[in-house]
Amino acid sequence: MKKIVILGAGFSGLHIFYKLRHLIGKKLDITLIDKRSHSLLKPSLPEVAFEGAAISHSLVELKHTISSKGATFLQNEVVEIDAKANTLKLKDTTTISYDYLFITVGAVKDYDAIKGYKEFGYSVCDDTQAQKLWEKVKHFEGGNIVTGAAKSVWGTRVDAPPLLAPCEGPIGEIMFMLDYYLKKDRGLKRSEDYKIDIFTPGEIFFEDVGDTPREVIGKYMQEKNLLLHNNKVLKEIGKDFISFEDGTKMACDLAIVIPPYSAPVLLQNSDVGDEKGFIPTDKQMRHLDYQNIFAAGDITALAQPKLGHIAIIQAAIAAATFMKELGEDIEIPPHDLEVFCIMNMGGHDATLIVSDNLYGGKTDKASFSPISKMMKWGFDNYLYYNKGHMPPDIALDMTDKLVKIL
Ligand SMILES: Cc1cc2nc3c(=O)[nH]c(=O)nc-3n(C[C@H](O)[C@H](O)[C@H](O)COP(=O)(O)OP(=O)(O)OC[C@H]3O[C@@H](n4cnc5c(N)ncnc54)[C@H](O)[C@@H]3O)c2cc1C
Repeated sequence: MKKIVILGAGFSGLHIFYKLRHLIGKKLDITLIDKRSHSLLKPSLPEVAFEGAAISHSLVELKHTISSKGATFLQNEVVEIDAKANTLKLKDTTTISYDYLFITVGAVKDYDAIKGYKEFGYSVCDDTQAQKLWEKVKHFEGGNIVTGAAKSVWGTRVDAPPLLAPCEGPIGEIMFMLDYYLKKDRGLKRSEDYKIDIFTPGEIFFEDVGDTPREVIGKYMQEKNLLLHNNKVLKEIGKDFISFEDGTKMACDLAIVIPPYSAPVLLQNSDVGDEKGFIPTDKQMRHLDYQNIFAAGDITALAQPKLGHIAIIQAAIAAATFMKELGEDIEIPPHDLEVFCIMNMGGHDATLIVSDNLYGGKTDKASFSPISKMMKWGFDNYLYYNKGHMPPDIALDMTDKLVKIL
């Protein structure tokens, strides 16, 4: 029996787990380790922050979910990977050995890297931040709102698109959902009562897609008076301002930012990560230096942008590559990445974005419609009620067909 450790129970760790689960007890002894008791479904966090949705709907309990399927769940933090000895060290000093390791620890949202964030900043990136933001938003009486992503810096060992922001989709949700809430639910008047400015560190906003989604988003931003500022690298958040590396400042009563993404300290201090700690893999998601280590999701150097859809594509590849090595009759899917996301815009509005332009493809679509909203609702609920299990392939094929019609 091969001893498998999956490190991290987010989108990619759980997807690998579900792909391998039929081999548990026959060929595999699987241990899944996460420092959290519940996996966090981040795509529904904007609803927590701007609609007051219950956080419980974004959480998947792990211990029972994993153990009921014959595997072991350990709630613990891994503090060291010794890839030469095939061991992990946990925070409580226990050592765990493995035959194969899947690294799916995601990226750290590095709030500490922004001066003034702790005192004055808000975000939507985790359960604590999203709930704190809702408390602020529901009592917000008006003023200057500024939102945008900080600049992240990546390693250079693999060839991946060098994006300045890890993913600007949540910024789209922040600006549209907040505008909707303040106007429709609170009765505040845009321009008179509040103003929303958006900044991006890039030359262009939404640098990970092509012209069509940018034009659709740009049109709604214009209609709603949401003002965009390009080439703005966040420097500091103050009590009533936000400042940038180019020396400019904006008046700001509410700053909502996506912080820089970094690798967990565990990887920055190991020989498993690249110079920034992200995991260098080939396109079958195998570590470039260690044959028995695979990785998937936000922590991989190849994942650009950092998106759940890409985490799932990579997790399926990692699981298939491994199963093929075990002798299973399985095809390894190609590492064909695409941006696929549904941007919630408040009320019944949402825009579905599908684009592979970043990787040289020709697909570049954006569909603003209530059907997009229904798809998001269906997907988020499926994930929640099925304990982080992705919809079956047949449902994903139907989604592809629907996207072609839209
Ligand atoms: C607000 C927001 C909205 C988003 N919306 C969308 C969307 O609509 N569509 C989409 O496709 N993507 C979306 N994303 C991106 C998506 O959530 C991520 O790309 C996805 O979660 C990455 O999955 P992952 O498995 O790589 O990492 P994660 O989901 O971050 O999981 C990593 C896991 O590893 C655990 N871990 C980390 N370090 C350790 C350690 N040392 N020891 C033990 N455990 C550890 C963590 O606790 C965590 O459970 C959104 C992101 C945000 C922030």
